[in-house]
Amino acid sequence: VEDRRGLSIGKGGAGLGCGGLLLLLVISLITGVNPLELLNQVQEPDQGGYSETDRTTAPQQNDEMSQFVRTVLADTEEAWQQTFQQMGRRYEEPTLVLFSGNVQSACGFGSAAVGPFYCPADGKVYLDLSFFQALDRRFGAPGDFAQAYVIAHEVGHHVQNLLGISEQVHLQQQRVSQQDANELSVRLELQADCLAGVWGHNANRSRQLLESGDVEEGLNAAAAIGDDVLQQRAGGRVVPESWTHGSSKMRVEWFRRGLQAGNPSVCDTFGSGGVGQTE
Ligand SMILES: [Zn+2]
Repeated sequence: VEDRRGLSIGKGGAGLGCGGLLLLLVISLITGVNPLELLNQVQEPDQGGYSETDRTTAPQQNDEMSQFVRTVLADTEEAWQQTFQQMGRRYEEPTLVLFSGNVQSACGFGSAAVGPFYCPADGKVYLDLSFFQALDRRFGAPGDFAQAYVIAHEVGHHVQNLLGISEQVHLQQQRVSQQDANELSVRLELQADCLAGVWGHNANRSRQLLESGDVEEGLNAAAAIGDDVLQQRAGGRVVPESWTHGSSKMRVEWFRRGLQAGNPSVCDTFGSGGVGQTE
């Protein structure tokens, strides 16, 4: 874990990344707050508020929230080390960068408004705790599960990177139409959901980190809030094309597959029985 909180490098950025959107969805399921309302409240202060942070106001390095993040990350490491071993491979642990405000990654500039993201080029998960904090403060969201899940999803992208899947997909995306490239993105995202489920299975079985009832409940409810519905209601203001993660139904389906099987072999979202089947 690299703690870069409070190291501000300017302003900029708009829109939520995949982790951010997912987190909002989960939080809104837990709190019953309209996700669009959450989106507005989260986005507005980001237009500069977090950029002003400096080291004096930054949280202590071992505060409760970063401890929680370290615990979840360590758990994903344990789970994936085992799984990789079973595949005859070695798991290289990702670095997790905690930041507030803005951050520079090998994939470019990230801001708090983007939410958590993974950069394949440097193999790091970027996690904005001020985003979690804002949600926590304003809505008192019991965010343990939501946060753990977001981390596991980003770690899922790291697993895809280690397995060479991300690279294959990106190469393929350069050769096809925009529409097909988007569909490939959806498949990649759904696979990260499935891999998060695989972690959830192992964490639940051996370490009781998650309460499986919560997981099922939250994700069942997610089916009621489709990505498509969100996009329509957002009126195009906050939802660019790149957010396409698949409908909630598909996400629930793939997360559940991973969760039930606890084995990444069920996460073939690119196969013939893949994404198209559940849409
Ligand atoms: Zn993602």
